[in-house]
Amino acid sequence: MKLFKIKGGIHPKGRKEATSNKAIQSIPLPTMLRIPLQQHIGAPATALVEKGDLVKKGQLLAKARGAVSANIHAPTSGRIIAIGRFIAPHASGLPGTTITLRPDGEEAWADRPPPLDPDTAPVDELAKRVAECGIVGLGGATFPSGVKLNLRNRYDLKLLVINAAECEPYLTCDDRLMRERAEDVLTGVRIMARTLGVERVIVAIESNKPEAAKALRTITKASGDDKISIVEVPARYPMGSEKHLVQTLTGKETPARALTADIGVVVHNVATAYAIQQAVCHGRPLISRIVTLSGEAMAEGGNFEVLLGTPVSHLVEQAGGLKHDPDRLIIGGPMMGQPLSSLRAPIIKGINGILALGQKQKQAPPPMPCIRCTSCAAACPCGLSPFDMAQRIRSDELDSAVDIGLLDCIGCGSCAYVCPSKIPLVQYFNYAKGSLTAKQRADHKQEETKRLVQTRDARMEKMRREKQEAMARMKAERAAKKAKEEQQKQAAAAAQNADTETKIKVEA
Ligand code: SF4
Ligand code: SF4
Repeated sequence: MKLFKIKGGIHPKGRKEATSNKAIQSIPLPTMLRIPLQQHIGAPATALVEKGDLVKKGQLLAKARGAVSANIHAPTSGRIIAIGRFIAPHASGLPGTTITLRPDGEEAWADRPPPLDPDTAPVDELAKRVAECGIVGLGGATFPSGVKLNLRNRYDLKLLVINAAECEPYLTCDDRLMRERAEDVLTGVRIMARTLGVERVIVAIESNKPEAAKALRTITKASGDDKISIVEVPARYPMGSEKHLVQTLTGKETPARALTADIGVVVHNVATAYAIQQAVCHGRPLISRIVTLSGEAMAEGGNFEVLLGTPVSHLVEQAGGLKHDPDRLIIGGPMMGQPLSSLRAPIIKGINGILALGQKQKQAPPPMPCIRCTSCAAACPCGLSPFDMAQRIRSDELDSAVDIGLLDCIGCGSCAYVCPSKIPLVQYFNYAKGSLTAKQRADHKQEETKRLVQTRDARMEKMRREKQEAMARMKAERAAKKAKEEQQKQAAAAAQNADTETKIKVEA
C-alpha cells in the first residue's frame, strides 16, 4: 500500500527491547484498590455505592454522568471501605473523589450481560454494550468509546484506522497484546467497523513490531476478510498522532482544529479494540488493562495485566522494584507522558506505561539561550515555528502565539527533544495553552454572569410591567363596575320616579 510522507518527526531511541520480549503477566491482588470517579475525558461518574457495601467483581460502582462520561465497575469483589478524596495519578498530585475497595480475595463475579453476536447483533446494541461496559480510548486519550462508535450518525465515515503504532519509546503493551491476543483484537476491530458502518479498515503498526504485524496478518488471512489491511508504517515519532497517522495512510490532511471524522476517518487504539471484544463477546466491563513497566531505574520491568485501582507502588514491587532513585517517574511514554507525583497513585483506564527513567541527578543544567538553529521547526510535524512561539509566550504575547499556530501544537515534544540549548519548549506551550484555557473559562464565566444579570433584569422588568398592567386593568375594571353600578342606580331611580308619577296621575 502506498504511504505518504509527513513533515518533521524525529527518531528517538526506541528502548523497547527491555520489555518487548516479556509476555503479559498478571500480578497478585493488592490489599487495597483506589478507584477514582474521573478516569476519562468528560464528566466524572456518579458513585452508586456507599461505605460498607459489599460488591462483586464487575458490579457497576459509578454511573456515567452526561453525554460524555463513562461507567466504572468493581475490579474485584470485596467491601467498600471509603469514598473520599485521594491522590490522583496526575502531575499535580491533586486529589480526586475515589472509591476505596478492600478485596476479599474471592474474585466473585456479579451477573454479567449475555454475550452479543458480533456479526448479527444490532449496531445500536453493540454501541450501547460498549458504553455500559465503561470502555474508553486506551491509548491515553480516554474518550468514551460508546460515544465514538456513534459517530456514524453525524459523519459520512469511510475508513477505520486502528492505531497500533505505539510510537513512544519504552512502551510495548500494545505490541504484546497484538502478539498474544491477535484473534480477540481482530474481533474487536470487526465489531468497531460494523458499528461504524465503514467500508475499509487499516491496522497501522510501526515497522519495529514485525511479530505483531505477522500475528494479525496470519489471522486476517485465515478468516478471508479482505476489508482489513495490516499496514506497517515507518517508525518515526510521532507516528501515533491521530492526524499524522491518517495523513501517512491516506495522504489527506485533517484541517487544523477539525476531527479526522470530518474527512471520513475514525481512529481507535488497538487496546480499545480488545476491550470492546471482551465487552461484546464476554460481557466483561473494563476493569483491567495492560501496562508496560520500564526505564533504567526499574529492576525488571515487563508487561502486566493490572486491575484498575491498583496502586503503582504495588505494581512496581511485583515487577521487582526500583534499582535506584529515578530521575523521573512518568505515566505513559517519555515524550508525551506526565510526571507521576506519587507511587501511591492508582492505575486508571488511560495509563499504558509507568516509566522510572535514569538515575536521580543532583541538579539538571539550566537551559541555554536560543541560537536560532531552527532544528525545532524542522522537527515539528505540524509545520510550526517552536522558537518563535516560545519567544512570544516569554514576552507574554499569548494571542500572537495563537496567531502563529499555538493551538495546532499537539504537544509531541519533538522540538524540545532536538533543541541543542535544552529549552523546555513543550512546557512553554503547555503553560500557554493552560493560561488560554483558564482565560477562556474566566471570560466564559464573566459572559455567563453578564447573561444571568441581563436575564434577571429582563425578568424583573417584565414582572414590573405585568404588575403595572394588572393594576391598570384592576383600576379600569373597578371604574367600569362603579360606572355600571351608578348607571343601574340611576336607572332604578328613574324607574321609581316614573312609577311615582304614574301613581299620582292615577290617583288624580
Ligand atoms: S510540541 Fe508542538 S511545537 Fe513542538 S514539535 Fe510537537 S507539535 Fe511542534
Ligand atoms: S532548536 Fe532550540 S536553539 Fe534551535 S531554534 Fe529551536 S529553540 Fe532555538
